[in-house]
Amino acid sequence: MIEAAPAATTAGAPPLLRVENVVKHFAIGAGFIGHAVVHAVDGVDLVVNTGETLGLVGESGSGKSTLGRVIVQLYPATSGHVYFKDVDLTKVRGEKLRRIRQQMQMIFQDPYASLNPRMAVGDIIAEPLHNFGLARGKAAEKRVQETMRVCGLNPNFINRYPHEFSGGQRQRIGIARALVLNPSFIVADEPVSALDVSIQAQIVNLMEDLQDRFHLTFLFIAHDLSVVHHMSDRIAVMYLGKIVEVGATAEVRDRPLHPYTKVLESSVPVPDPDLEMARRPILLTGEIPSPVNPPSGCRFHTRCPIAQQICSEVEPPLERKSEWPRFCSGFPWTPTCMPRIRRWPIAKGSSPCPIRAMSCSARASRSW
Ligand code: ADP
Ligand code: MG
Repeated sequence: MIEAAPAATTAGAPPLLRVENVVKHFAIGAGFIGHAVVHAVDGVDLVVNTGETLGLVGESGSGKSTLGRVIVQLYPATSGHVYFKDVDLTKVRGEKLRRIRQQMQMIFQDPYASLNPRMAVGDIIAEPLHNFGLARGKAAEKRVQETMRVCGLNPNFINRYPHEFSGGQRQRIGIARALVLNPSFIVADEPVSALDVSIQAQIVNLMEDLQDRFHLTFLFIAHDLSVVHHMSDRIAVMYLGKIVEVGATAEVRDRPLHPYTKVLESSVPVPDPDLEMARRPILLTGEIPSPVNPPSGCRFHTRCPIAQQICSEVEPPLERKSEWPRFCSGFPWTPTCMPRIRRWPIAKGSSPCPIRAMSCSARASRSW
């Protein structure tokens, strides 16, 4: 099994959530060659510590949403374990699972698609209270109005319908629906990706306020690294069903170790205009490979600038690196990588080396 990520950042405190070797495969189709299997999540180890925000990033199709859904038990895991407060959710059933799931909620990307358009907002937010048998009637209405207020919604709009709200307000409704059960852990799956930039900031601020106020722990899934840098204490990078790097946000941002992380980080705009001019994003060639037939060895080797022979043959483990608490998969770089590095396309400038392009003057401390 892959070595687990660091057990805790808060001294002595056990992690709130522990994901051990989780696999999620989807069987699809029934062509003449038989069923195909989508390897959406393929052996993920992860911990989320109490009170932190763990950012989960990666290209579309890398398995982030599937992992989030397996964690909150919306999808059963094909194999592996998900421990929440040391209870293995893959082993519990019935009422016990329901009680634990009450503490784990999910916020979805598209607030419009995730809200029933035929239900009034008050009923949408109250629904989980009814489902879990926690409150009814006036008590439920009072709880809903309180939750609307803390989420920045006018409680007098309790009888309005989702279409009467703006995109940002609809996302606040989605957050209120998750918050009404008083959870301790929330998986936020691209909660701001569908919103305008100005509204994104409001929702991010709301989530941070709620985290402080209600001691929430977040798994924050996104593909926009700027938001993830802002929100997260640590970042996990996912590629084609695997975690390739985990570390503290500043470490991953300023000194990414894995080639894929370097590519993602190189695409993040820098607020300083001079530094932004000097920034040279590394262009990743081709599409993410099909998870039906993922590449052998390191899954990134088909697009990696420093791939070596061994990368297509052996899967590199997610290993603890010298800087605690850093984890990264990949083999040590050797001079045989140079021919591929020279062919690596860089968006602007003429540096033959993606390493140099990446570590441009914007972030001098970066090196491969
Ligand atoms: P991400 O959230 O990183 O974009 P997803 O978890 O949505 O990635 O998807 C990972 C892979 O699993 C994709 O190739 C996607 O098409 C596939 N997938 C997701 N859900 C299903 C499903 N219910 N059935 C079959 N394939 C799925
Ligand atoms: Mg997704």
